[in-house]
Amino acid sequence: MFNIIIFGAPGSGKGTQGQILTDRYQLTHISTGEVLREKIRKQTPLGKLADEYISKGQLVPDNVVIDILTKFFADNPTSNGYIFDGFPRTLRQGEAMDEMLAEKNESINVVLWLDVDDDELVERLVNRGKEMGRNDDNLETIKSRLKVYYQKTAPLKKFYSKQGKLVKINGMGTVEEIFSRIEKVIDSLSTKI
Ligand code: AMP
Repeated sequence: MFNIIIFGAPGSGKGTQGQILTDRYQLTHISTGEVLREKIRKQTPLGKLADEYISKGQLVPDNVVIDILTKFFADNPTSNGYIFDGFPRTLRQGEAMDEMLAEKNESINVVLWLDVDDDELVERLVNRGKEMGRNDDNLETIKSRLKVYYQKTAPLKKFYSKQGKLVKINGMGTVEEIFSRIEKVIDSLSTKI
């Protein structure tokens, strides 16, 4: 198995590049943000709880998303490889994920960090808010999401670079340009998909 984390700030292209990677390498994809939005659409109790955090640009509590990951592994016990988009977002989530993978004798192979300038992130998110109507893509919420990213999520870079797994990808440019950078990195790794 070949397990990938697609990592980066909101608006860095995780969803777009994650989807292309999933199709290209036949991986099993999970986006915790998508799972949560689906629960909000269905207005489940968990969706209602999550909405309170998401609409303010805050992270949903760790135990909620860790439970989502547990269910994902139960539903997808085997795979060519997993791709994690938007998870982990805190050190506690990263540690919980490592434990769950270890139980399956698996681990993360690579963390692809999409590096994008802040100005570009804000511009992309504002545009996405206009096009897709995501209610957390408004300027005020975007600013708090970026702050949360730097405070709680960015420290994971150190966690994975210590493990020799973090690879920085220039996330500026067209979708195709960025994907070809990712492809080069994956093709150069000694463990193959
Ligand atoms: P995303 O679609 O990945 O941008 O996620 C949208 C929102 O869902 C985030 O701003 C968080 O409020 C919440 N969310 C998604 N994934 C996580 C996670 N792993 N931990 C905590 N909150 C999350």
